[in-house]
Amino acid sequence: MAQQKQAWSVLFILFICPALSGCMGTDNLLDLGEDHGIPGSLTLACLDGSKYTSMIVEIDYHPGYEPESSTTDLLKQRLESVCDKPNGIQILLTESQLPGDGSWSAQDVRDAGWELKSHDPLDGSTLYWQMILPAGTYDDDSVLGVAVDASTVAIFGDSVQEARGFLNRPSAEKVENSVVIHEFGHLLGLVNTVYTSPADHEDSDHPNHSNNEESVMYWAIESRTIGNFFDNEIPTEFDQDDLNDLTGLASGAIEAENQLWRP
Ligand SMILES: [Zn+2]
Repeated sequence: MAQQKQAWSVLFILFICPALSGCMGTDNLLDLGEDHGIPGSLTLACLDGSKYTSMIVEIDYHPGYEPESSTTDLLKQRLESVCDKPNGIQILLTESQLPGDGSWSAQDVRDAGWELKSHDPLDGSTLYWQMILPAGTYDDDSVLGVAVDASTVAIFGDSVQEARGFLNRPSAEKVENSVVIHEFGHLLGLVNTVYTSPADHEDSDHPNHSNNEESVMYWAIESRTIGNFFDNEIPTEFDQDDLNDLTGLASGAIEAENQLWRP
C-alpha cells in the first residue's frame, strides 16, 4: 500500500511539473533541453552573487583516487577569487564506487556525474558544481581531465600519475593541482566558450584555451605531454586576460551566451 502510494506521488510529480513554472526552484532558466548546458553555461551563476549566494563543489572519488588536499584548497581559493558567493564556497568530498575502470567517454562522465549529484546545479540559493575522479582513463588517454557540461568535470587519476615528469618534476600532485583548476576554468567559460574576449588570447590551434603558457588555461595543462612543457612550476593561476574576461562577464561589459541563468 505504501509502495503504491509512493508510485502515485512520483507519477503526480511527473505529470504536474511541466505545467508549473519554477518546478526546479529556479526562474530565469533558459531551456537548453536535456543536455545540461555546455561548459560555461553556469558562469554567471558563479560570477554573480545576487541569487546564488553560496556554492558547493561536490567531489566524488573512486576508492584510492582521493584528490590531494593541496588541490581542493587551491580550487576553493581560485573560485573564491572570481565568484561572488557571500555565503561561502564549500567543498564536499565523498568516496563513491564509480562505474567502470576502463575507458570513459564524455557521455559516460555525464551519466556517472548526474547519477551522483545530490542536487540540481541550481537549487534554492546554492550553485552546485561537481567533479568526479574515476579509475581508468578517458577515451583519448592523453587527456587528463574534461569538462562535459555546465556543472560536471572529471579528472583521470591514472593518467595524472603517468603524466608526472622525470625525477618527479613535475610531481603528480602539481599536475593534479593545475588540471583541476584548468577544468573549473572551463566551467567558468574560459576561453571564449560562451563569450568573445576583447583580448586576443585564445590559442588558434587549440580552441577554448589560452595562448599564454603562464595561464592555467594553456592547452597542455590537461594533456599527458604536460611534463614536456613545464618543469616543476606549472601555472595554477588564471592570467590577467582570463581574469579580465571574467570581470567583464560579471559586469555585463562582455556579453555571455548560452546561459542557464542570468541575473
Ligand atoms: Zn582544456
